[in-house]
Amino acid sequence: MQHPSYPLTLDLTGRRVVVVGGGPVAARRAAGVVAAGGVVDVIAPWLCEDLLASVQAGDIRWYDRDYVAGDLIEPRAAWLVHTATGSPDVDAQVAREAEAARIWCVRADNGAASSAWTPAVARGASGGPAEGLTVAVSGGGDPRRAAAVRDAVHAALDSGTLPVRRVRTLGKTPQHSAEPTVGRVALVGGGPGADDLVTVRGRALLAAADVVVTDRLGPRGLLKALSTDVEVVDVGKTPGHHPVSQDRINELLVHHARLGKHVVRLKGGDPFVLGRGGEEALYCAEHGIPVEVVPGVTSAVSVPAAAGIPVTHRGITASFVVASAHEGADHVVRAATDAAPDATLVLLMGVTRLGETAAALVRAGRPADTPVALIERGWTPDQRTTTTTLGHAAADAAAAGVTAPAVVVVGEVVSLRAVLGDLAGE
Ligand code: SAH
Repeated sequence: MQHPSYPLTLDLTGRRVVVVGGGPVAARRAAGVVAAGGVVDVIAPWLCEDLLASVQAGDIRWYDRDYVAGDLIEPRAAWLVHTATGSPDVDAQVAREAEAARIWCVRADNGAASSAWTPAVARGASGGPAEGLTVAVSGGGDPRRAAAVRDAVHAALDSGTLPVRRVRTLGKTPQHSAEPTVGRVALVGGGPGADDLVTVRGRALLAAADVVVTDRLGPRGLLKALSTDVEVVDVGKTPGHHPVSQDRINELLVHHARLGKHVVRLKGGDPFVLGRGGEEALYCAEHGIPVEVVPGVTSAVSVPAAAGIPVTHRGITASFVVASAHEGADHVVRAATDAAPDATLVLLMGVTRLGETAAALVRAGRPADTPVALIERGWTPDQRTTTTTLGHAAADAAAAGVTAPAVVVVGEVVSLRAVLGDLAGE
C-alpha cells in the first residue's frame, strides 16, 4: 500500500453487513458488527458454535449455503462485507464483487488485498475514567503488533496515566444523560512526594477530576500532567502560614461539587493520618455531597523507610506510635508513656518544637542516648537524614539547619540505618 490507510468510525446501526464464512474468525467479526448495531447476514454451509448460538439468539441471520454471486447486493445492498471462508478463491471472489459494487471488504485471508481492515480496539471500562472512549490501533499488516499496543492502551486507559477526562456540561443535566447534577469529592492520599507512590485508584480519579484542591506536600509533579482546563486550587500550608483556612477548604470542596464537578482533594501521605481528611469527609457528608477516600502511603511509615529505618523490627520493637508534635510536648509525652517502653515514636510536624519535645521525652523516662533520626523531604531528590540522640537532637538539628517537612523517629530502630542506608529507589 503506497498511501497511508484512512481511519474512520462507522455508524452501523440498522445497516446490512454480510459475513461470508462460518468459522471462529467470522464469528468474531459478526459479534463486533452486532455489538455496533449492524444487521448481520452470515453466508456459510456450516457454522461454529458461537455463530450458531448467535443465530439461535436471533442476533444474526444465517444463509445455510455457499456464497453465490449477487449475495452482496441481494436482497439489499450491504454496506460492508467480511470474508473469512478459509478459501482464498472464495475470499477473492467476494472481494471482486464487493469492489464492483463499491462495498468495503475486509479479507481474513489476505490483508494486503483488502479494501478495509478491522483495527485492534480498546474501550474504556464502564464506570472507569475512560468510559466512552474507543481507541483503534492499526498494525499496518501486523495484527499482533496492533494487539500488543491495544493491550497497553487498554491498561493505560483505566489507570489514570492518560488525560482521559470527560469535559462535562456543568451546572445542568444534559438531556438523555445519566450524569448527575451533583458532583463528588474524592479525598486522595498522594503519598509522601514521589509521583509514583500514589495508588492506581488515586491516579485514575485525578485523571478524571475537574478540580484538584492540593496541599504543599504530596506528589506535586502529577499536577503538571493535568490538562490545562483542570482547575488546580493550591491551599498549601507552610508552617506558621495558613493561606487557606480549613473552613474555607471544606467550603471549596462542597462549592465545586455542587456545581456538578468531580473534585479531587489531593493530600500528602494518607488523608486520614494527621491530614484533617476526616473533617473534610464529615463536612461533605453533612452537606449531602458524595465523598470517598483513597488511602495513601503515609509519611509516618514511608519516610523512615526511605532512610533505611523500619518502624518495627523483630528483636527491637513490635510497635510504633505516630503522634503530632504540633499539639505540644505534653501530647507527645502522653503518647509515648501510653505505649510500650520500646515502641518507636514517629513524630510528624516535629521540627519547630523539637527541643521542647525531646527534653520532655527525656524527663518522662526515655534515655537521653535513644537514637533519633530527622528525615527531611522524604522521597524527593532533596531527602536528607540527620541522626542524633534525644539528648542532642535540638542542637544537632539547629546545626544542620533541619527544616519542615521532616519526620522525627525516636527509638532503637534508627540504628538499622547505619547498616541499611537510604532505601528510596529512583
Ligand atoms: N497525612 C500526612 C501527614 C500530614 S502532617 C501523611 O500521612 O503523611 C504533615 C507532616 O507530615 C509534615 O510536617 C512532616 O512531618 C510529614 N511529612 C509529610 N510528607 C513528608 C515528606 N515527604 N518528608 C518528610 N516529612 C513529611
